[in-house]
Formats: sequence, C-alpha cells, structure tokens
Amino acid sequence: MTARYELHGPVAVITLDNPPVNGLGHATRLAITQGLDRANGDPAVRAIVLTGAGKAFSGGADIREFGKPAALAEPNLLSVILACEYSAKPVVAALHSVAMGGGLELSLGCHYRIAAPACKVALPEVKLGLIPGAGGTQRLPRVLGIEAALNMIVSGEPVASELLMQVPGQKLFNRLASSAEQLMTEALALAQEVADVRPLPLVRHLPCQHPQGQAYFQFARNMVAAQARNLPAPLKCVDAIEIATTAAHFEEGMLREREMFINLMWTPQSRALRHLFAAERAASKVADVPEDTPKRPIASVAIIGAGTMGGGIAMNFLNAGIAVRLLEMKQEALDRGLATIRKNYEAQVSKGKLKADKYQERMALLSSTLDYADLAQADLVIEAVFEDMGVKEQVFAQLDKVCKSGAILASNTSTLDLNRIAAFTRRPQDVIGTHFFSPANVMKLLEVVRGQQTGKDVLATVMAVAKKIKKTAVVSGVCDGFIGNRMIEQYARQAGFLLDEGCTPAQVDRAVEKFGFAMGPFRMGDLAGNDIGWAIRKRRYVEHPGLRYSKTADLLCELGRFGQKTGAGWYDYAPGKREPVPSAQVLQMIEQHRSALGIKPRKIDDQEIVQRLVFSLVNEAAHILQEGIAARASDIDMVYITGYGFPFWRGGPMLYADSLGLFNVVQAMKRFATNPLDDAAFWQPAPLLAQLVAEGKTFNNA
Ligand code: NAD
Repeated sequence: MTARYELHGPVAVITLDNPPVNGLGHATRLAITQGLDRANGDPAVRAIVLTGAGKAFSGGADIREFGKPAALAEPNLLSVILACEYSAKPVVAALHSVAMGGGLELSLGCHYRIAAPACKVALPEVKLGLIPGAGGTQRLPRVLGIEAALNMIVSGEPVASELLMQVPGQKLFNRLASSAEQLMTEALALAQEVADVRPLPLVRHLPCQHPQGQAYFQFARNMVAAQARNLPAPLKCVDAIEIATTAAHFEEGMLREREMFINLMWTPQSRALRHLFAAERAASKVADVPEDTPKRPIASVAIIGAGTMGGGIAMNFLNAGIAVRLLEMKQEALDRGLATIRKNYEAQVSKGKLKADKYQERMALLSSTLDYADLAQADLVIEAVFEDMGVKEQVFAQLDKVCKSGAILASNTSTLDLNRIAAFTRRPQDVIGTHFFSPANVMKLLEVVRGQQTGKDVLATVMAVAKKIKKTAVVSGVCDGFIGNRMIEQYARQAGFLLDEGCTPAQVDRAVEKFGFAMGPFRMGDLAGNDIGWAIRKRRYVEHPGLRYSKTADLLCELGRFGQKTGAGWYDYAPGKREPVPSAQVLQMIEQHRSALGIKPRKIDDQEIVQRLVFSLVNEAAHILQEGIAARASDIDMVYITGYGFPFWRGGPMLYADSLGLFNVVQAMKRFATNPLDDAAFWQPAPLLAQLVAEGKTFNNA
C-alpha cells in the first residue's frame, strides 16, 4: 500500500507512504482517492488529514513514472486534486519536510493547510523546462499573491514554510505548527475545529489580481527574459500566472495551463533538462557495484603536489569539512600552494561569498608536510604531481610503502595509463583515477577512472566521496584521455582543419558560442594553455605518424603563444585582462601556412563549423561507448555539460545528435569525409553509430 488510512477519533488520516519522497505515482494517487471515498462514506468521520510518512509530505511526481503511460493513468494528479476539492468533509493537508511540485499542488486542492517549520516548499517544474501542470500557476498566486508566487514559480527554488508565513496577506498556510513533532497533533486539532464549517473553503474561489496589472507582467517578462536566455519555460510561467488574473473563470486558466504544460513537454529544452535530471541520477550508479556495497570510511585526505590541481582539489575537501594534508617535495612549492589556497579563500571572503569564521575553520583543517611518513594514516591519497610516468612511479612506490592497508590511492592523471600506475604498487585493487577539471575547486565534473583491478568497494567509496564534495562523478574506463579529453582531441583537430580551410579563430569561436558553448575551442585553448595540446600532439606524431593535424597549433606554440598565461595565444591579451583581441600575428601565421600548403581559403558557414565540431565529439563518443569506456550515452552528456561548457539546454552531444536524428548525423559525416582537407577515415561512422542508424534507434534509447 502506498498510502495508509487510519482513524484518530472522528478524523481520518491518509498518510502517503511511497518512499523515498512520497512521489505521486499511480498506486499512491489511487490510494489517496480510495482513502477520501472511505472517509466520506464513514458517518463516524467528520474531517480528513492528508500527510506524508517519512522524509516528505510529497516530492511531487514519481520520477519512476516519467514519460511513461502510468504518469497519466487515472486517477491522474488533476483528478486527485479535484477529489480533495469535492470531498464533502474538510481535508486538512499537514505538510512537513518537503512539499514540492505535484505535492504542493495537491495540498492546494485541500481545504486547509498546516505546515511544520522548515518545510521546503517549491514548484520546481521550471527546472525541467516545464510549468507546473496541476494547477500550481492558477492556485499559488491566489494564496500567496502574484509577486511571491511568480518568484517561486519562475525560479523553482524552495522556500521555507516559516518565510512563506511572513508574506503579507498569505493564505497558503492556515497555520504554522509549533514544531515538526507537534504537526500531527495540531493538524488533528485543526481538523476537529473546522469539521462543521461550511461552505468548505476552496483556493479556486479566491480572487487573483495584481494592482498594477499589465504593467507588472511586462516588468516581470523583461526580468525573466534577461535571465532565461534559450529557455522558453520561465516566460511561459509568467504567461500562465497572468492568465490566472485575466481568465474569465478558474477552469479556463486550468485549461490554458494544461495546454502550455503539454506544449512545453515537446520542446527540445524540456527534453534536454529532463534527460539531464535522469542522467545525473544514472551516472551515480555503476551496474556491477550495488548501492549497498560497503564503503571505506574517509575522514582524512592527503594530496601529493600543491600545484594548479593539488590546491584546488584540497579546497573541495576542506569545503566539505574533511581534513587535508598536502605534500610537496620542497618547502617553496608547498608555501606557494598554501598561499594560493589562502588567496582563493580570501577572494571569496572579500566578495562576501564566504564568512571569515568559515574560512578559518577550513584553514584549520589543512596541514602540510614534506615527509611521506606523515601520510601513514590517510584514508584517501590523491596524487597530482607532474604528468610523467616516471614521477608517478616514484610517488606510487612511496605511497605503497608508507600508507596504511586499506587506504585508497588515487591519481589525477589526465592521460596516463591507470593500470600501469596501479602496477607500481602491491595493491592495485586500492588504486583508482580521480580526474578533476581545472579549476578543481569550481568545476563540477569528476571523471572516476576505474582500473582493471580497482576494487568495487574502492569505486563505491570514491563515488560517495564525490557526492560529499558536490562533484558530478562519471565513471570512465582506462583509455588515453578518458571520456572527455579523448573526445575533445577530435574536436580540436577539426577546429585546426577549419583554420587551414579558411576560418579565423574568432569566426570558429563565435559560431560555437552562438550554438551555446560557454567558450569556443580557441578561447578554451588560450585558457587551458596551448602547450598542453602541443605536448600531446608530439606524442601522437610518434604513436600515429599517419594521423593528420593542422600545423597551425604547433606554429602558434613555436611563437611562444601558450595562451592567457603568456599574455598571447590564439588571441592577444592586454596585461591583466582576459578579453581576447584578434591577433594580426596569428592571422598572418595562418595565412602563410595556407599559402605554403597551396590552400585557397573558402568561406565556411556557421552550420558547417558547428556540425564538424559537434559531430566529431559524437563519433568519437560512439567509439567510447562501444568500447565500454563509458557505460551509457547519458554519462557522456554529463561529462560535456559539467566539464566542457556544452549548452545544457541542448542536453549534451549525444542527446543533441539523437534529436537531430542519427541518420542526419551520419549523412553529414559522409559529406565531411569527401573533403580532401579533412580526415576521411575519422568521418567513417563508428560501428555503433552505423548500427543504430540501421536499426532506427538513438543513443539514449538503444
Ligand atoms: P603542476 O605542475 O601545477 O603541479 C604539480 C606539482 O607537483 C608541483 O607543485 C610539483 O612541485 C609537485 N610535484 C612534482 N613531483 C612531486 C613529487 N614527487 N612529490 C610531491 N610533489 C611533487 O601540475 P598540475 O597542472 O597541477 O597537474 C597535476 C596533475 O593533474 C597531472 O597529472 C595533470 O595531468 C593532471 N591534470 C591537470 C589539469 C590541468 O588543467 N592543469 C587538469 C586535469 C588533470
């Protein structure tokens, strides 16, 4: 049973009981209506209380029903809400912990509401590219006033019940319970008090007007449009709320809300946001590592190397209240690393983003050493030293000697073979890759690299640690570049070919940024350092002598133009500034390179630029999927959204390819393969991609 029915004297209590958050799945909806019928049919019952068991009143729709017919099966949520409204006996909703989405809408169909303090109340549908679809846009403004309701609906953010109680004239809650423990007692008392009051109060009968009417809605639209670029739902929220004020009657507003909700369901943006919502949950699961796999306790972390990455990685743990010890080879390097951490925190303090006492608390958790012996008790060690197998060998051999048994030994390597690193120890089962992205204290993505021998408990522990330090962890198998960088290498190659053929760096960046990437490939290169790619290519020239690259990036590095850190890269940078200024030297370099090759530049349109770059990601990703380096297409989307600035409202490269149609993607690849200046072999569709097209399937629904 997903809702319980009990009698407390003359009051029937219906308790939603569908863990974890009392999602309003079909069985729960049915049980609520059955409870209402039973209470209404029992002459001994005078009033009804509706509440939730466990951790929530209700978190809203049951995500297990997303996109399935069960979501709409009768009684659907609208019918359940009507059943509450039509109940002949008063229904009191007793809200606690979480009342979100459909859960809040359900309570708005009840005649009375009482909330426990600290109950998180929200209509978060906008975060899935939707508007509330069960009366939220029509009822919330009636109980909370238009402005407060609009803020909640457009932001989707939760607001605490006691704050909502302070909204002038609010009718959302009839009462705030004196404490969470007292909620049921006080709800039962309220139910008895109102048992005989007639007519039963209905939210739909309350007036809904804004004194400034149209002018206010125009203002709201301007505000929302400025914040919600590329997303249609926030403006539709405003429209729906305005309709609540202008519709001839309540039912008309409900119909219009429904119509907008259904139209939004079909938008690519909502599809993308719903995909990412599910993708994030899926990424945290590993097929052969059950959720109840025992995890190792992680109370202290050691980090080897206090350079660019080591310092940022340390901050993640300090922020989560976990003690960190930093190890370096020399005191100066240690001092430099510690000073950078301090500087980063002080910048946050001066911007008001971090309280001074929190800063002190975090720094108190940080210690440093030059001696490996001090790492003996660390639960987790993360190595972030130079990207050199010899150096990694020294470090891991040392760790193997000094670390306690059961310590997890992680490497932040971005390209090296984790299985070889693990083999430098006598405990390869304890070795794992934790590939953070720069700046490591800011970027959400963490690629968790699973070696051939990595223990399941080690993997489960690191996935749990990732959650604790608020990273989006995606598991990757071992290969050169793992998921993200292996794909970006093909993207960078295409960007180089585009320069050879006639584009300027600014033209490519503009096209890609117009598509929605946070940054085009050349600005990204300047930020990350063009020397990184240079070092990788030098290796490739030896490993794959036949593989073609544009020489422009090498010529750039030969000029010492490594990017922002040298004040010049693909663009010029004024001292201390980050704005890219097109560089005459670079343009001349590219032109000379073209004429040396005898290439007559051609005009390339934005669509070709974007397709070549994005489809290069997609084709490489198809290989990655097929090889089992990534477990699911949606994991790859998470990597690109959280680590590479891919436009989130497009759902990631794989969903984007799915929505274009994989047939069309492959047709374009075939066209690109005929370009003599491109790499025909690369554009052969990966076997998995070709197979999906042949079977009429998509990546995300294979
Ligand atoms: P870095 O040069 O900024 O820092 C490396 C630090 O390690 C230096 O401070 C050095 O003194 C120290 N070190 C070297 N050998 C050591 C040893 N034997 N014992 C203790 N300390 C030692 O390098 P980084 O950019 O922080 O990169 C570190 C690792 O992270 C590399 O494996 C790199 O591939 C990887 N990585 C870097 C980035 C990035 O954007 N910089 C991103 C992801 C991963």
